[in-house]
Amino acid sequence: MPSSIANYFDNAATTPVDPRVLSATLPFLGDACGNAHSIHSFGTRAKAAIEKARESVANLIGAENPDEVVFTSGATESNNWVLRNFETGAISPFEHSSVREPAQALGFTILENGGHSVLKPKAPAGLVSVMRVNNEIGTIFEPSDSVVPGSQVHSDITQALGKIEMNVQSLVLDYASFSSHKYYGPKGVGGLYVRDGRVLEPILLGGEQEEGRRSGTLNVPGIVGFGEASNIAIDALGEDRALANDLRNIVLESLTGIVDMRVNGGERVSPFILSVSFRGIEGETLVLELDQAGFAISGGAACSSRSTEPSHVLTALGYEPEWLRGTIRISFGRFNTADSAGSLAKALRRAVGTLRELRV
Ligand code: PMP
Repeated sequence: MPSSIANYFDNAATTPVDPRVLSATLPFLGDACGNAHSIHSFGTRAKAAIEKARESVANLIGAENPDEVVFTSGATESNNWVLRNFETGAISPFEHSSVREPAQALGFTILENGGHSVLKPKAPAGLVSVMRVNNEIGTIFEPSDSVVPGSQVHSDITQALGKIEMNVQSLVLDYASFSSHKYYGPKGVGGLYVRDGRVLEPILLGGEQEEGRRSGTLNVPGIVGFGEASNIAIDALGEDRALANDLRNIVLESLTGIVDMRVNGGERVSPFILSVSFRGIEGETLVLELDQAGFAISGGAACSSRSTEPSHVLTALGYEPEWLRGTIRISFGRFNTADSAGSLAKALRRAVGTLRELRV
């Protein structure tokens, strides 16, 4: 079991809730119990808190108007929702499964990659979907580089929001999906940015919530926490990013000299993600070794780490199996320290050395 939150290096899978977010949330798990659609004062208090949170999220993503933010259960729902509104589409080969699987079901095409970049579609596509930051290797992509006339652009900004500068207007996005728990908010709550409040067919029917766009009783405590996490992120972005950069460098420097090691992600990577491959070692074994040493990391993407399928991201980049399987992801966050990063790197070096000795 990891011993302390400073030793938790799986922040791309999910982050711990910030104590300030927890405090903001607690009243809404207690007496402030109203349904945001009730007309009594318990209801109006909840409604006011929801609209305040919507403004905070809209500020963080750089939306022109808070009504462009629709609350959902997270990026998975947002991705499914927007894709299901198009008959034709093209997605990057690096997308999360919550884009890939609906895209496959809808018969969308997969765009070619030019290494760590995504090429334009060759045929007209109603929707082009390219993520901002890849969750496995941290590469930063430019969604608008893949735009063609007549297409609308969607980006899954889940690994970018609250971490690197993100502005849906300067990225010229029509739609963007995101989740609160990737930047110290509660799990099970997220949103979809819909430019100019465009009409999307809902996938959930049966209620009037969110102007009929997304039915279901609003998760008031979750959304309040999401809003508070967004307020904190606006102030903390620079500091969080500088810390992640330092920690990434500490780990990278300590790994210098290990043979048969590759750092993944290309030239432009989020400082919050460090993906490394060790040839001939099982990434999963490293994850378990480090867990024994008190550290939480991941073998690639946590969402798919229980799957035995090789990573589609590294496969698209042409990795051979002996490198593919030896990949781990270390992802940094606000509660890691220079000391914990140094100790993690030492434990990793030791584990790689031991596993390689065992092999010969
Ligand atoms: N997209 C990306 C890039 C992600 O990293 C994740 C979380 N692993 C998701 C979508 C899905 O988010 P959620 O599980 O919160 O719906």
